[in-house]
Amino acid sequence: MKAKLFEPVSVENRRGYRISCSCGAVARVPMNTVRCSNGRDSDFERRLVERKFEKLGWQIGEKASEHVCPTCARARAAERLSAMIGRARGRGLG
Ligand SMILES: [Zn+2]
Repeated sequence: MKAKLFEPVSVENRRGYRISCSCGAVARVPMNTVRCSNGRDSDFERRLVERKFEKLGWQIGEKASEHVCPTCARARAAERLSAMIGRARGRGLG
């Protein structure tokens, strides 16, 4: 059984899901589909929710604690870039 990635919440009086980042950022998306929550449907729904959050710029982790918000994703990308530049300078290429 896969760990639950998103917390079910109500969004504007509809069913929805919540995602959170370790920095405290939170986002919610409503679900339009009305389905019984049996195993297969909830897996299908999870993928839909993942796609919705990815469109918002979130990086979906393997666990609920590993999601990265758009702000942190940008910060991490900038960090990687400056680390690359730093290594290049270290080799005398900068
Ligand atoms: Zn964050």
